[in-house]
Amino acid sequence: MLIAKNIHKSYGNLHVLKGVNLEIREKEVVSIVGSSGAGKSTLLHILGTLDKADSGNVLMNGLELGKLKKDKLADFRNSELGFIFQFHNLLPEFTAFENIQIPGLIRKTDLGELNKRVKELAEILGITHRLDAKPSEMSGGEQQRVAVARALINSPKVVLADEPSGNLDTSNAEALHQLFFTLRDELNQTFVIVTHNDSLADLSDRKVTMKDGLIV
Ligand code: ADP
Ligand code: ADP
Repeated sequence: MLIAKNIHKSYGNLHVLKGVNLEIREKEVVSIVGSSGAGKSTLLHILGTLDKADSGNVLMNGLELGKLKKDKLADFRNSELGFIFQFHNLLPEFTAFENIQIPGLIRKTDLGELNKRVKELAEILGITHRLDAKPSEMSGGEQQRVAVARALINSPKVVLADEPSGNLDTSNAEALHQLFFTLRDELNQTFVIVTHNDSLADLSDRKVTMKDGLIV
């Protein structure tokens, strides 16, 4: 459902992606591993339309993402893609419930429907009892699960995660990666996860290794 074809990207003289080809199938949990500087984040950003390739194509169900007009891009990202980062970036003034709602409010989803979806996700993620808490009142593991729920609220085609467990201890990190399988099974959710941690990358359907700007 998501295809990268011969992606090249340079920053100045630094050739970071040197012809990357990757196909993500629906309902697949894919991890992208490789040492620091290999180009993993750059690739993920290009897959997520957060950055543009110098050449090559990214296609989602046949739609060429590089051709989306600027005014369409924000809507596309908010409705078709979910993002999880190392730091959860939850809004500190809002409760977990409100943080999870936000992408749905932007999309103008019916409020009853939206709130039902928040509760459904909270149940799967085991944070129902924390929905009234502010981020500062939650543990790191809980904050990240709220960020996962927020990424999923609009039922995106694919969730892109950049070191989602980078700020968690080993057991919370493993629990988070196990949750990706649960979400795949229960919601048919597709995930692409960048991690530098090889044993966490094993908690996936397929491990893709990058080295010096290429998939090896
Ligand atoms: P990884 O995620 O595998 O650690 P990155 O994709 O973050 O690798 O980075 C690959 C290379 O590109 C690194 O050398 C990094 O310093 C460089 N790089 C990444 N983003 C930028 C940028 N915006 N400007 C300049 N160089 C960048
Ligand atoms: P974890 O190991 O999952 O990160 P912690 O041991 O940090 O969890 O936290 C255990 C429980 O304590 C959590 O369920 C959370 O509700 C509560 N908690 C953690 N930090 C805070 C805080 N700063 N304020 C209030 N409650 C907290």
